[in-house]
Amino acid sequence: MAAAALPTSVPARRAARLTDSHGRVIHDLRVSITDRCNYKCVYCRTGEVGAQYPELGIGEYLRLIKLFVGLGVTKVRLTGGEPLLRRGRIELVSELAGLRGIDGEPLDLALTTNGHLLDTLAAPLKAAGLQRVTVSMDAVDAPTFERITRVPGSFKAVLGGVRAAREAGLTPLKINCVLLRGFNDDQIEGFARFARDENVVVRFIEFMPLEEGRLWTPEIVVPLKEIVARIHRVLPLKELAPREASETARRYGFTDGVGEIGIIAPVSQAFCGACSRVRLTSDGKIRTCLFSQVEHDLYGRMRAGADDNELRDYIWRTVDEKEARHHIGEPGFLKPSRSMVHIGG
Ligand code: SAM
Repeated sequence: MAAAALPTSVPARRAARLTDSHGRVIHDLRVSITDRCNYKCVYCRTGEVGAQYPELGIGEYLRLIKLFVGLGVTKVRLTGGEPLLRRGRIELVSELAGLRGIDGEPLDLALTTNGHLLDTLAAPLKAAGLQRVTVSMDAVDAPTFERITRVPGSFKAVLGGVRAAREAGLTPLKINCVLLRGFNDDQIEGFARFARDENVVVRFIEFMPLEEGRLWTPEIVVPLKEIVARIHRVLPLKELAPREASETARRYGFTDGVGEIGIIAPVSQAFCGACSRVRLTSDGKIRTCLFSQVEHDLYGRMRAGADDNELRDYIWRTVDEKEARHHIGEPGFLKPSRSMVHIGG
């Protein structure tokens, strides 16, 4: 992928906090700490394993994250690939937990995982200062789950991980499920029950054209309206008020007050106007949108000897170029060259 040519001059209008040219304050950073994954989810991967992109040292991620925090980032989510495969993950969490935002507040520190290794890692992650985890699960029955992950025994491992995370206090515990029509959309009602039984927030995510293969069509996406209607039929729902403007999920509670689900609808109800997010890939490139056609080599500049002021300047100029929105489903839409697992979901 081509590196972006950025204007050499620094934007004249600079606020105390990182802000893009559309006036969106960027306070949310997702950092991929490896693009390796121990699952081969059929809608995500072609089945190849191993890293495609280099990994930075833990200290290098830390230096880059600190720059963003110094520019107003308050939320850091570690992801991958599978972040729990990465050596040094506990130390990184511990260092991040010690950071303070520009108002002196601790970071909102979270991690997204497939949960396979969480059974033994939940307690040490919590002790190191992690606040929350989101676990990805695409089915609530073992055979369907293992058909998707292509890893025998994965359902039991993840269920154990979910329970260990809850016991460790990594809460509110969120479970993310990507739905594909004709594939796992028979799990919708089961997930609603799972949310109540396991005391977790289940969030359904619309499938986006970010897979390694070529699966995506508009018809394969199960839209928000359909998910809500199907659950409402068996377990009545009411919509809950958003907690913050940049919240990606539409939230619903069950009318009896027990449990919550969320729906993240980037395809049928895009929320780009409220986007507050940038991503750092495992090889240290900034991506200003999941669907960016260019990426920005922050790590390359760091390795070439840029000092923190120069790197901050580069981050500002990069964020200034953040795309207004994605163009999924529009004529001429171009899939990014990296798939979700290599960007950092
Ligand atoms: N390994 C970790 C995990 O499983 O959560 C983190 C990385 S994974 C790529 C992050 C999330 O992206 C998972 O919930 C996965 O289901 C989701 N994902 C992957 N491909 C997707 C796509 N094309 N559309 C929507 N979500 C996708």
